[in-house]
Amino acid sequence: MRLRFAPSPTGYLHIGNARTAVLNYLLARKYNAAYVLRIEDTDMERSTRRSEDSILQDLRWLGIRWDEGPDTGGENGPYRQSERFDIYKKYTDLLLEQKKAYHCYCSQEELEAMRREASEAGRAFVYPGRCRSLDRAERAAFEAEGRRPTVRFRVPEGETVVVEDHIKGRVVFESGNIGGDFIIVRSDGVPVYNYIVIIDDALMKITHVVRGEDHLPNTPKQVLIARALGLPVPEYAHLSLVLGSDRSKLSKRHGITSVEVYRKEGYLAEALVNYLAMLGWAAESGEEILSIDEMASQIEMGNLARSAAVFDFQKLRWMNGMYIRALDLSRAADLFIPYLAESGYDASKYDRPWLERVIDAVRGNCEVLSDIARYAALFLDDIMEPDAEAVAMLKEPDSKIVVAEARRLITDELGESNYAAELVNLIKKNTGMKGKRLFMPVRAMLTGSLHGPELDITVPLLGYDRCRARVEYAHRRFCS
Ligand code: GLU
Repeated sequence: MRLRFAPSPTGYLHIGNARTAVLNYLLARKYNAAYVLRIEDTDMERSTRRSEDSILQDLRWLGIRWDEGPDTGGENGPYRQSERFDIYKKYTDLLLEQKKAYHCYCSQEELEAMRREASEAGRAFVYPGRCRSLDRAERAAFEAEGRRPTVRFRVPEGETVVVEDHIKGRVVFESGNIGGDFIIVRSDGVPVYNYIVIIDDALMKITHVVRGEDHLPNTPKQVLIARALGLPVPEYAHLSLVLGSDRSKLSKRHGITSVEVYRKEGYLAEALVNYLAMLGWAAESGEEILSIDEMASQIEMGNLARSAAVFDFQKLRWMNGMYIRALDLSRAADLFIPYLAESGYDASKYDRPWLERVIDAVRGNCEVLSDIARYAALFLDDIMEPDAEAVAMLKEPDSKIVVAEARRLITDELGESNYAAELVNLIKKNTGMKGKRLFMPVRAMLTGSLHGPELDITVPLLGYDRCRARVEYAHRRFCS
């Protein structure tokens, strides 16, 4: 069994396509199939090497590995369509020779006019076959006018194409309903997708094509080409669409659609792969958080989702948070540190075990890695400016008593070794405050907020110097 992912390098890796790549990868793992990466770069104006590089980088980041591809090579290469033009040319010559294709001299303008006429009459455009049977003299006359021909495939009449799709079931197409003879090579000599995709699938010995359902209408054209050339036809599985919350096709206006942007925002590859897989498949057990290995063992060609999936950005964030919480602490620190650096916190300034404790204390609040600075600031900044609620709390007369006593204790009585164990106890004992009247001002004074991790965790983690600085700051600001 051989599977493939065939991106067009005309931009970033879109999450919809990443889902296709992920599902193919899981199926390849499941069935121990070869996984081929083919770059479909015949749209010369829009394809770039930069886009190809970024797609490969994103796929690698997701943890997807391929057995054959433009970077790894393989027996069935080259793996970029732009490097396979000689191969396609041979097939085109063969089709022309056997009269299964012909040169078409209709100009863009003429075709445009035919299209307009059809649309004005409320008909779908079908190429009327004007150049189907030109004789030598007619062709020479067109050539003399300087016209450069396209090559059109002569769609056989009365043929039925039956696709036994693994997801859609049996889909039947009639050759008379696919828009007439279609162009396979443009006038500039560049062959088109619908033509070469099936040649490549055959030559690369692809047995199963798993791709988006937007390609289903292309399938009969591809099958007819294969029949004309005597090439094998793969099995198909057309994945249901990924929709936005309003059930229209997923696009940027719904949220982030670029894998690279997810990576930069601090999504974990494991979480994204998990979520993307769930957009095309569900575990029988109903479990949602599954590792690549678990998914690869449970997925089957026969249990891919039939209905369209709605991309739920909140759910992905939630799932990412679950993965962040489950990370091994040292790996979590490695992943978070660059995001701290981005917010101006130089991790090398801190003791690593301490930093790991800080990360452990706040990662429960983080749904994406880039959330970290917002929550870790509590431990990393010298002073936390109190927010409005904390200011109001610290202005209470009772709070001033607490702050004044805290300052006396921390400057006169307590030091590094005992402040963590004693500070709150002694304030309580010496002022008689308890419950909220004690804890809220302490929290406001030490953390600048009435919410956040438990004081039992916060106070020791802050360290004596930082606590003292904050107590003094609160004292200066609210008690003098
Ligand atoms: N290159 C096509 C695309 O990016 C995929 C073609 C296919 O899977 O057959 O949409």
